[in-house]
Amino acid sequence: MRAIVKTKPSAGVEFVEHYPEPEIDVDQVLVEVGATSICGTDAHLYAWDASAQAFDPQLPFVMGHECAGTVVRIGANVRSLAVGDRVAAESHIFCGACYMCRIGNAHNCYNLKLLGVTRPGAFANYVALPASVCFPLPPTLPFDIGALFEPSGNAVHAVQRAGNLDGCSVLITGAGPIGLVLIQLAFAMGASSVVALEPNPFRRGLAAKYGARALDPAKADLDAIVRADYARHGGFDVGFEVSAAPGTHEQILRAVRREAIVVCIGLPNRAISLDISEFIAKKMIVLKGVFGRRIWETWEILLALVEAKRLDLAGMITHHLSIREFEHGIALLKSDSAKVIISPN
Ligand SMILES: [Zn+2]
Ligand SMILES: [Zn+2]
Repeated sequence: MRAIVKTKPSAGVEFVEHYPEPEIDVDQVLVEVGATSICGTDAHLYAWDASAQAFDPQLPFVMGHECAGTVVRIGANVRSLAVGDRVAAESHIFCGACYMCRIGNAHNCYNLKLLGVTRPGAFANYVALPASVCFPLPPTLPFDIGALFEPSGNAVHAVQRAGNLDGCSVLITGAGPIGLVLIQLAFAMGASSVVALEPNPFRRGLAAKYGARALDPAKADLDAIVRADYARHGGFDVGFEVSAAPGTHEQILRAVRREAIVVCIGLPNRAISLDISEFIAKKMIVLKGVFGRRIWETWEILLALVEAKRLDLAGMITHHLSIREFEHGIALLKSDSAKVIISPN
């Protein structure tokens, strides 16, 4: 089968035409990949930078963790799925036995393996998945939309962490794919206004299309915006930090009101210092984080919103490429793009 394989601890990947098909064990299914999408994590793995090495992947491995496809073979113990089922993959492969799994927090399993990072991934014709991480898709849902459930789920989980957004003003730093889903979700969940900071003009255009006031962080004067439009509350009610760009955490903590909730989704590649006295103790901001999706609550909320057409994932797809064009896809992430879909053929 065709596969994108990370073989060396340096920048780059290999496109392999004849890579061995994965074997499945009794609890797994073999999925014929219908569509995958490229994530910022894939760009880090491609570049083999500090963020990539922090995951401690073992070379060589097949990359790709955002995927949907058709079950073509099932292990002897699998009862929940049948050949022909259409599924999307939860990329956080949990053990099911540790404390976090037992209390319903499988996304934060102590023995977590990450699809396409610390387990063979889905930039290939076939991927082996534990049946326990397969999310059944309705028959009419296209695979490219199904592949976007994994990244979009991060945004849904971030909103779950933020709580009630009724009437809230929301500040989002970063309008990449997750920021764009957050903008739509914030409005779907009752937010009154959304300001999104995003340096790329193309992505600002998408953010504006979804109803946000999209501003260039290099030019936006957040103090002036808060004084002009959010003075009654003393700042934004809720903040979502997505970009992990230098300085955004400080920026968001300054722009939100006292006792606001700030949810961190972006992964900075180094430690950041924060004024705890100012922001956490005195301003009493509640700082939270998300990593992955609540299994399966987040997925079901996402599916319901997509089926109700309250969330537009198709509008975020800017490119469809074949697996041979993978490196072009990585380059596109740095230019005018949102989601790049990779077909295995
Ligand atoms: Zn991802
Ligand atoms: Zn576990």
